Amino acid sequence: MNVVTLGMWGGYPNKGEATSSFIVEHEGHRLLIDCGSAVLSTYLTMGELHELDAVLVSHYHPDHIADIGVLQHAAMIQKQLGELHSPLPIYAHAQDVIEFEKLAYKGVTTGVEIEAHATFAIGPFKVSTCPTVHPVYCLAFRIEVEDKSVVFTADTEWTDALVDFARDADLLVSESNVYPQYAGKIQGHLTGQEAGKLASLAGVKRLVLTHLPQYGERSVLVKEAKKEFTGPVELAYTKQQINL
Ligand SMILES: [Zn+2]
Repeated sequence: MNVVTLGMWGGYPNKGEATSSFIVEHEGHRLLIDCGSAVLSTYLTMGELHELDAVLVSHYHPDHIADIGVLQHAAMIQKQLGELHSPLPIYAHAQDVIEFEKLAYKGVTTGVEIEAHATFAIGPFKVSTCPTVHPVYCLAFRIEVEDKSVVFTADTEWTDALVDFARDADLLVSESNVYPQYAGKIQGHLTGQEAGKLASLAGVKRLVLTHLPQYGERSVLVKEAKKEFTGPVELAYTKQQINL
C-alpha cells in the first residue's frame, strides 16, 4: 500500500498548495481521501480521474469538499471524451442530506452513504469508519490492505474513540492544527501533543501530521508530538510518498 499526500493545509490552501488530502493506492487501485481546495489540480499532476476507484469524504467543510464540484465537471468532460466508462463513487455520510445529495451528478458521480462504525470493501481496500468530535459530523477512516493499515483522523478534537480505532496502525495521519498556546481556545482540532498522545496510546508505527496551520512555526507541532510519541513523526508535504 502506498500513501501519497496531495495537500496538508487546514481551513484553506496555503500559497500554491492544497488542503489536506491523500491518495491511498495498491496494485493499480486508488482511493482519494477528501477533496478540498486545489486537490483536483494537484491530483491531476500525478494521475488521471479514471484511475480513481472512489473518493472518500470525511465531512462537508469546504476544505474537504471544495473541489467536488470541479471534479464532477472533470468527470463529465472525461465521459464525453470516452475516458470515463463508469460513474465515480463518492463515499460520505448522509447526516447532512443536502450536501450528500450533491455528490450524485449527471450520472458521472454517485453518492454512496456510509455509516459510523461501519466496515466495507472498495476494491482490495477494507475501509472502516469512526465518528470524530468536530463542529459538524465527521468520520475518520481506517484503510487496510492485506496486513497493512493507515488511519486518517480527519478533523477532530480529542476523543478516546480514536485510540482503539487507530490501534496498531502502520501509519497514523493525524490532524494537528493547534499550537500549544492555543490549546483549549481553538475547538474541534488537535494539538501536536494530542496527535502524539493518540499515536502513542494506539501503538501506531509512524505518525504524519496534517491539516496544518498557515501561521506560526510548524516544527513546534512535531516537537510537541514527540513529547508523547517515540516513533517517527513528520509533517505532511505535497507529493510525499509513504510505502507501507
Ligand atoms: Zn472541518
